[in-house]
Amino acid sequence: MSDAVTVEEQVERAGQAFTRRFGRPARLASVAPGRVNLIGEHTDYNDGFVLPMAIERQTVLVADRRADTHATVVSASQDMPASFQVDKTLAPGEPKWANYVRGVVAGSLNHGLNPGGFDALIDSTVPLGGGLSSSAALEMATATLIEALAGRTLEPVVKAMVGVFAEHTFAGVPCGIMDQFISAMGRPGQAMLLDCRTRQMRMVPLGDASVAILIANTNVRHELTGGEYAQRRRQCEAAAGALGIKALRDATLGELEAARTRLDEVVYRRARHVIGENARTVQAADDLAAGRWARVGELMYASHQSLKEDYEVSCAELDVLVDLTRPLVGKGVYGARMTGGGFGGCTVTLVQAEAVPEVTAHLEREYQARTGIAATVFSTRPAAGARGIPVG
Ligand code: ADP
Ligand code: MG
Repeated sequence: MSDAVTVEEQVERAGQAFTRRFGRPARLASVAPGRVNLIGEHTDYNDGFVLPMAIERQTVLVADRRADTHATVVSASQDMPASFQVDKTLAPGEPKWANYVRGVVAGSLNHGLNPGGFDALIDSTVPLGGGLSSSAALEMATATLIEALAGRTLEPVVKAMVGVFAEHTFAGVPCGIMDQFISAMGRPGQAMLLDCRTRQMRMVPLGDASVAILIANTNVRHELTGGEYAQRRRQCEAAAGALGIKALRDATLGELEAARTRLDEVVYRRARHVIGENARTVQAADDLAAGRWARVGELMYASHQSLKEDYEVSCAELDVLVDLTRPLVGKGVYGARMTGGGFGGCTVTLVQAEAVPEVTAHLEREYQARTGIAATVFSTRPAAGARGIPVG
């Protein structure tokens, strides 16, 4: 895979593909990163805290205006091009992948940003559907392109919410706000502690050259038939209801213990995960900022354990990748956990920068030996959020 290209190389590559496809050079370019959540899983819809960072894998859009109000968008990752009118009649349609683009165009129009007609080409190094938020990267790259076409910018929070609108209304995915916030507003060398209730953000320094973030993709996604996500949400609501609070964000573990006999056993465990995870996330932000790496690592392992046993959203492959890091604690590894919704996708591991090659090789070799599946492992530092790129 040609994933480890620089943004400049990627823009160049996309520009060449644009010229081949449209017979003229692209004049505008935008880029937005994928993200990894360091800690704070299944807390977002409980009004809680998350701690994501933007990664060095990104979606690039290159484009040029058209004289009419038509848009043609092609993606290097999809066979079917998208074609639609840029006006108030814009609605979800086929191909499905383009609904993220259509939704952002529609959301931008709602905010008075009219890009007019355009041709665009998408090139992404974020794996699609791998839990690193290729969808938010596509949305924020599209919104940034629209800003350039319209000659006006949106407030970054408004821009992020246009992506959320696209995801909810056009793609039909009931996501939280984390992915779009970090893809829009990530900063190099910083993670973001985000309060999903108030939308307040606190940037957390993570620029120390001696540490790196290792992302390992299980390359599996278990199809769930039981409506697991909706079920977890209902269980959280049931727990909040029994505790007489608006959301689990408002409870402490002490209050949960006091109410334990009134709660269904499964509901109790779901709530224990969410309440504990919120506390771990706030604590991890302070520990990261202070460079207490070993402490952050412990919180990551505790998060994984809680997601596995109390929230029951891990899977064998995620557990293998996390367990493979354990013998290396004190020898380059600080901690690891599953990241994203679960049942597949990626793990995130905090490592000493100098140990990256060795830990990577260890995970690749042993994961293959234990599962028969090839993992995709790469290291990253916190990257910049969405931005326009000068062309030519
Ligand atoms: P994730 O955001 O974790 O990668 P999602 O299921 O939320 O997974 O989003 C993946 C979907 O987003 C893809 O199936 C596709 O429809 C769309 N998408 C993301 N990136 C691209 C891209 N570069 N080109 C076309 N479609 C994309
Ligand atoms: Mg997504």
